[in-house]
Amino acid sequence: MARIVMKFGGTSVAGTERIRRVANIVRAQAAGGNEVAVVVSAMAGETDRLVNFCREANPLYDPAEYDVVVASGEQVTSGLLALTLQAMGCKARSWLGWQLPVKTFSAHANARVDEIDAPRLRESMAAGEIAVIPGFQGVSEEGRITTMGRGGSDTSAVAIAAAVDADRCDIYTDVDGVYTTDPRIVARARKIPYVSYEEMLELASVGAKVLQTRSVSLAMKHNVRVQVLSSFVDDGAPPADTLPGTMIVSEDEMQKILEESNMERQSVTGIAHDKNEARVVLTRVPDKPGAVADIFTPLGEAGINVDMIIQNVGRDKGETDVTFTVPQAELARAQALLEDKKEALGFNRIITDSKVAKISVVGMGMKSHTGVAATMFKALADRGINVQAISTSEIKVSVLIDEDETELAVRVLHTAYGLDAKDDAA
Ligand code: ADP
Ligand code: ASP
Ligand code: MG
Repeated sequence: MARIVMKFGGTSVAGTERIRRVANIVRAQAAGGNEVAVVVSAMAGETDRLVNFCREANPLYDPAEYDVVVASGEQVTSGLLALTLQAMGCKARSWLGWQLPVKTFSAHANARVDEIDAPRLRESMAAGEIAVIPGFQGVSEEGRITTMGRGGSDTSAVAIAAAVDADRCDIYTDVDGVYTTDPRIVARARKIPYVSYEEMLELASVGAKVLQTRSVSLAMKHNVRVQVLSSFVDDGAPPADTLPGTMIVSEDEMQKILEESNMERQSVTGIAHDKNEARVVLTRVPDKPGAVADIFTPLGEAGINVDMIIQNVGRDKGETDVTFTVPQAELARAQALLEDKKEALGFNRIITDSKVAKISVVGMGMKSHTGVAATMFKALADRGINVQAISTSEIKVSVLIDEDETELAVRVLHTAYGLDAKDDAA
């Protein structure tokens, strides 16, 4: 017997027919004698629809009221799944974010999980009741509904798994695991059977949207065993633990797996892209100590996340250009803030470009392989793709390129690092 948290994403619960299939998978787990909690997303497209309603009602919407609107999508699917399970003769009940409660820090629209009071949930699970929980939702210190940022149901599931000390947290989605890159872009992407928390964290943070970044850091912190697998299986499918998904494991476990299978770690594990960044260039900034601090301090204080930064070589007359990226959603705010301080900062002009994409290659193997960045630059140059900015970490290299070249760049790099699946037909 195991205690399992199962999470189903939007496509998996898009309509009553799909919810019935989900109920079948859940029932199979419970029938195996396991204690089960299920976390569900809103139906595919529903959260986007609700976000648009908020924008139409008030472009400068209050995040607290936005949360009231967007949290409703998950409420519908959790109620529908509980009803479907009951119709199949299972004991099931829903627990909304405020009922559990999932306590969050109050930043509306982007709340962080503080704690989850699990004793009641554990009691109910131990009594053989299937708990159905809307993902994405929490409750603030003030008792108001919060939501955890787009993709936040993954984080809800991992947080609940940590709170009930689950043996496993299974994330069911519309692909059957984590791939070397988005399989919708590269048909030859390969499924990765095991990936370490560190690599998954880095991949998620640079755009692999299969898991929300926070869900991975929470899993790493609480040592939750997370598995990514497909809900698109036939009725009566075997229980999840016999399905070949991707398991997210600790670095120690990863080392053991590699040793046992006598495999060498590749330099690059996966490639991700992110079209949500924007590039900002400040021209003719005074080339003197303190100038960049004066630019980035107010941005930091305003909570604007600056990612890639380049300070160009100084021109004559003690001036230089400073280039950096911010999330597209923050661009208008960043621009207004800098324009406001134009005189004090002493720059000449702000040039912005939202038609950029960040392409990142990620892998623990980079620590022991050299030439990873050089391979990237060469592969891109061979296809005439211009690199506008670069940033690196110990296990990642990212470049900023023209958005129109995203798909081409991802494909070219996938081949360059030897990640393409072999041709079955060959
Ligand atoms: P859900 O609604 O189940 O939460 P998401 O749409 O958030 O699903 O995430 C699944 C999607 O993530 C896949 O359909 C796929 O296009 C995309 N994706 C991006 N990068 C990867 C990757 N490396 N491996 C698998 N899927 C990926
Ligand atoms: N429904 C929310 C979203 O679309 C949360 C989630 O599905 O994870 O972002
Ligand atoms: Mg998701």
